[in-house]
Amino acid sequence: MKFVGVDFGINPFAITSDGRKFHINRLPDIFYAHEYSSSVVGAFAEFTGTSQDDVSNLKDIGRLHQITKVQAEVLRPIISDLIEHLTGFDVIALEDIQIEGMHFEHEMRMLGFPDNVNIIYEESLQRGKKVHLVEMKGTSRECSHCGNPVRNEKGKEKPIKLNLFRCQNEGCPLSQYWIDKDINAALNIRNKILSKYLNSDEILQFLGLA
Ligand SMILES: [Zn+2]
Repeated sequence: MKFVGVDFGINPFAITSDGRKFHINRLPDIFYAHEYSSSVVGAFAEFTGTSQDDVSNLKDIGRLHQITKVQAEVLRPIISDLIEHLTGFDVIALEDIQIEGMHFEHEMRMLGFPDNVNIIYEESLQRGKKVHLVEMKGTSRECSHCGNPVRNEKGKEKPIKLNLFRCQNEGCPLSQYWIDKDINAALNIRNKILSKYLNSDEILQFLGLA
């Protein structure tokens, strides 16, 4: 039984625990679509003297249309590649991304989160995979090998700014290396599901022990 964890972000858009990174090559196009739709609709409203309410409705429609179009063009192929990659696994653990109040909430919304996670979830289920959503808590702040909180150079627990980190538990094998923080997060997401399956009937059956 093969397990995989998926961590989501802006760019890379997704990182899998087996080390694959899914990049958005046309990220500026998506951000531009948002700016463009607001400015065009704004200018139109001014020119026609449309009321405030109509402007905001129009803005929403215009924005939605433009964004949906760009998302479909830019994001859909990446989402499809990711789903294709995930078919190589039996159990898929997806980061249950909660964007409210997130530092990059606006950008994440522009990229279609959290809907993207639902799309990947549903399509993987349709392909006969076992899919789980994993709480984000701790996944980017803990060492995927020993669970020790990752600390910055001042020894304080805090979000990791660099792309690399090193476990500071001297007894942990990972303390010898700098590791990629996104892959570490994807491994943590995978591990959370792995531990649920360890003593399950499913694993015992798979191993021929039950
Ligand atoms: Zn460690």
